[in-house]
Amino acid sequence: MTDTPRVAIVTGAARGIGAATALRLAQGGHAVGVVDLDADACAATVDAVTEAGGRALAVAADVSDEASVEAAVGAVAEGLGAPTILVNNAGIIRDNLLFKMSVDDWDAVLAVHLRGAFLMTRATQRFMTEAGFGRIVNLSSTSAQGNRGQVNYSAAKAGLQGFTKTLAIELGRFGVTANAVAPGFIQTDMTAATAERVGMPFEEFIAAAAGTIPVARVGQPDDIAHTISFLVSEGAGFVSGQVIYVAGGPQD
Ligand code: NAP
Repeated sequence: MTDTPRVAIVTGAARGIGAATALRLAQGGHAVGVVDLDADACAATVDAVTEAGGRALAVAADVSDEASVEAAVGAVAEGLGAPTILVNNAGIIRDNLLFKMSVDDWDAVLAVHLRGAFLMTRATQRFMTEAGFGRIVNLSSTSAQGNRGQVNYSAAKAGLQGFTKTLAIELGRFGVTANAVAPGFIQTDMTAATAERVGMPFEEFIAAAAGTIPVARVGQPDDIAHTISFLVSEGAGFVSGQVIYVAGGPQD
């Protein structure tokens, strides 16, 4: 049995994990609102979905801005239909050791990850509760357990885990599940930026990371997209409030 086609929103879907997730959800039969800061940057994701026979709409929004979020969710609802799947994926890093971290870098990271997920979820939940069906997936990280140089990011990613569990408790009775996916090292522009920061060629950085991962490779965006596609499926309706680590090995 295939799932009922739904309307999904994936934030930060112009590239990386978000782009792979948008494509995979489209391959599962869902229409996808491709949300990112710049609508033009979403074109490649929209084209990939269209080429795969799916439907997608590019919508520009800053997830940390309330008016921008309300407008984006309204545009998806009008253009594709009521969104009942939400993947809060948009993210940034502003790494530094605590003693060098600026207030701006702290605020920027908390704003995109935490405030962004809150605003997007608040704007979308009414479509889910009205439909009696909803799936929310928040992108956490193994960094939630602590990572040198990432006090802002690890605080945001740990915060998202508490946010997810509370959503699961509040929205479960409406047929809405909420889960977090916590990736380890995934090969994207974000990890390329980290390699640059530590002054290591990306290929070397990848090889070093792979050496510490039990499956002996780093992750690819599609590894995360597959996990998300399970969590948004109808069959996953009894999985809620969980944090799924997708890191090529166990996490404490
Ligand atoms: P990425 O390649 O850097 O892509 C992130 C996307 O989010 C970019 O297109 C970016 O747009 C967009 N974005 C940033 N701020 C935004 C905002 N305020 N509103 C809307 N969109 C915004 O990152 P990724 O590696 O795919 O990561 C995706 C998610 O997974 C993030 O939440 C990240 O923290 C999480 N994660 C990644 C890894 C990893 O190893 N890569 C591991 C654990 C967790 P611009 O290009 O315009 O900035």
